[in-house]
Amino acid sequence: TDAYLGAIEGAKALNAYIVTTPDKAREMAAASDRKLAAGEGRALEGIPLGIKDLFATQGVHTQACSHILNEFKPRYESTVTSNLWADGAVMLGKLNMDEFAMGSSNETSYYGAVVNPWRAKGSNAALVPGGSSGGSAAAVAARICAGATATDTGGSIRQPAALTGTVGIKPTYGRCSRWGVVAFASSLDQAGPIARTVKDAALLLKSMASVDLKDTTSVDRPVPDYAAAVGRPVKGLKIGIPKEYRVDGMAPETETLWQQGIEWLKAEGAEIVDISLPHTHYALPAYYIVAPAEASSNLARYDGVRFGLRVPGNDITDMYEKTRAAGFGAEVKRRVMIGTYVLSAGYYDAYYLKAQKVRTLIKRDFDLAFEAGVDAILTPTTPDAAFEPGAITDPVSMYLQDIFTVTVNMAGLPGISVPAGLNEKGLPLGLQLIGKPFGEETLFQVAQVIE
Ligand code: GLN
Repeated sequence: TDAYLGAIEGAKALNAYIVTTPDKAREMAAASDRKLAAGEGRALEGIPLGIKDLFATQGVHTQACSHILNEFKPRYESTVTSNLWADGAVMLGKLNMDEFAMGSSNETSYYGAVVNPWRAKGSNAALVPGGSSGGSAAAVAARICAGATATDTGGSIRQPAALTGTVGIKPTYGRCSRWGVVAFASSLDQAGPIARTVKDAALLLKSMASVDLKDTTSVDRPVPDYAAAVGRPVKGLKIGIPKEYRVDGMAPETETLWQQGIEWLKAEGAEIVDISLPHTHYALPAYYIVAPAEASSNLARYDGVRFGLRVPGNDITDMYEKTRAAGFGAEVKRRVMIGTYVLSAGYYDAYYLKAQKVRTLIKRDFDLAFEAGVDAILTPTTPDAAFEPGAITDPVSMYLQDIFTVTVNMAGLPGISVPAGLNEKGLPLGLQLIGKPFGEETLFQVAQVIE
């Protein structure tokens, strides 16, 4: 813990942590030492972790990296972090992220952008770590935590993992409790770990996952020993390759790496089959209706009365308006506006209802592939590697970062991103494996071959 706290001080330029909790960390580590001395070590005893600022941590800064949650310190702890502490993990601090988890480059944070520890060959230009869990991914990549919590609504665990050469898994919807996780789009949000290796991710997810009476969408199913799946042979498993993921604008190196992944799995005896997921093309537009719709509803609670920031006004409406105008950043305001528009009378059927129908079709595509005997699906995680801050200014281009990841959230399936190699510039690229509902063990099993 001391070594990590020291390393965090030395890596301040990355802006990965917005708050560190050294006293708490040392106290937790000392408690772990006592447990270990007594021979009572638990699953994650003494492992120092970083926590995405979206998770409520009791008495500790929790702002979803938004100004509107100014100085908010919850009186409660999220279920996921409670589970980690109950297994002996140690909290190092809170990690930077896109404001309310809206973004793909960690440039929308109220606390400023996060810097990816990677550099292109022969260049010293800063790169983004991806988003929204950019702080989590950068911190794991820079070795300033042993692992991190993250969340994924449309790709926010997997895309930053891909851009930083780390492993990130978004489990099946309902696998982790959302209680105490600041809500973005409740039907899509899931928590999961970002870690250095597939095995570490397996150990962390085992601890994070649980059924929870405080989240009625969490699922009452035993949590398997995920780490035991790592290293299990993949011989005979059927891996689907969806043709719709060969999109225009994909970097040739991404394509090559995808092929390389196929070869690695074949060499281990997996069977590769071509599949079709015909509604893939509609996933991104449908996501950018469903996610903002739910966000506009979830964010209605930030009214200057209950949490964080309040900007005084002449009357209550004026106070609401001034607080929300000052408290939310540009991307969050854009989402609230899109969301309220698609939910408004007269547009609801044309946009929101239509998007929900498309969502069902996307889910059905996956159901059919799995019914036909496919065990997991292999795709790239992102079209390309990390880019420079400010390189993508148009929101629609930024939304294209999520093209391969949003389908998984729309269908509620588990997806893992695993580092698969470097491009010509020496930057990491990731491959994504998509599993059946509660098929996380298969993902860990197959990911280990690629890692
Ligand atoms: N980049 C996507 C968005 O901005 C996904 C974010 C996420 O998964 N939290 O909505």
